[in-house]
Amino acid sequence: MWLDPLVVRSFAFISHAHTDHARRHKEALLTPQTLALIPEARRPRGWRMLGFGESMRRGDGTVTLHPAGHMLGSAQLHFEHEGTSVLYTGDIKLRQPGRVRTFVPRADVLIIETTYGRPHFRFSDPDETIELIARWCRRALDSHVTPVLLCHALGKTEEVMLALAQYGFAFALEKRCVPCAHQYAQAGRSLPDWIELNGDPIADRVVIAPPVGKDEVRRLGRYRTALISGWAKDPDFARLFGADATFDLALAL
Ligand SMILES: [Zn+2]
Repeated sequence: MWLDPLVVRSFAFISHAHTDHARRHKEALLTPQTLALIPEARRPRGWRMLGFGESMRRGDGTVTLHPAGHMLGSAQLHFEHEGTSVLYTGDIKLRQPGRVRTFVPRADVLIIETTYGRPHFRFSDPDETIELIARWCRRALDSHVTPVLLCHALGKTEEVMLALAQYGFAFALEKRCVPCAHQYAQAGRSLPDWIELNGDPIADRVVIAPPVGKDEVRRLGRYRTALISGWAKDPDFARLFGADATFDLALAL
C-alpha cells in the first residue's frame, strides 16, 4: 500500500482531496468525505472507503484512519503489524478552532508532512487570527470598502467561511471557489450564506477569491485584499500576491 504516491499505483492511501495528493490510482483507500471532494473526472478508478475510527485488515496488519484536521475528510493512517506501528499523518493540523487539539495516536514510527517545517513558520493562535480577520472585515464593511480574502479554493475558503460564520458575515465567492463550496456541501458540511460573485458591486458581503488572478476582484470598485495563508509568514511569498494585509492562518500544523 502506497501512501499519497505522486504517480498512479495499484493500491494507494489518499490522505485528503488536494490535487497534490489525489491521483487516479487503480484502487484507493480514502474517507467518504475525501471521495466526495474529488471531482468525478479525477477520482481513482476503484476505491475502498474507510470511516474515522474504523479498522480494516491488510495482509497480517491492521489499518485505522483518524482525523488529521487539515480539511474535510483529511485522515492520518495508523498501521499496526505484530505489535509494531507506523503513523502517516499526511498534511495535519494539530490546533483546531476553539482550542481543540487533533488526536494523534501513538506509534513506533512517525511519517509526517512538513509543509511548514522551517523555523520561521511559527503560527499565531488560530482563534486570535480568526478574531483579527473578523475585525479587519468589519472595519472595511463599516467604511463601505469590500473586504476580499485571498484563500486557496478547496479547503481554505470553506474553513475560513465556517470560522467566520460566528461573526454573522455573509459571503460572495469568486467563480473558482464555487465548485469547491458545492463539493463541501455535498460532502456533508453546510456553509454559511454565500452567493457567486457576478461582476456587480457587492455590498455587505465578504468576498473570497483564490490568491492568483484577481480580474473579477478588480471590478469591485473600492476593495481591500488580505492573503490568508501559512505562507504569509514568508515575506517574499506574501509580497508576490500584492495583498494589502496578511494573516497567517494555516491548514497544516
Ligand atoms: Zn493539503
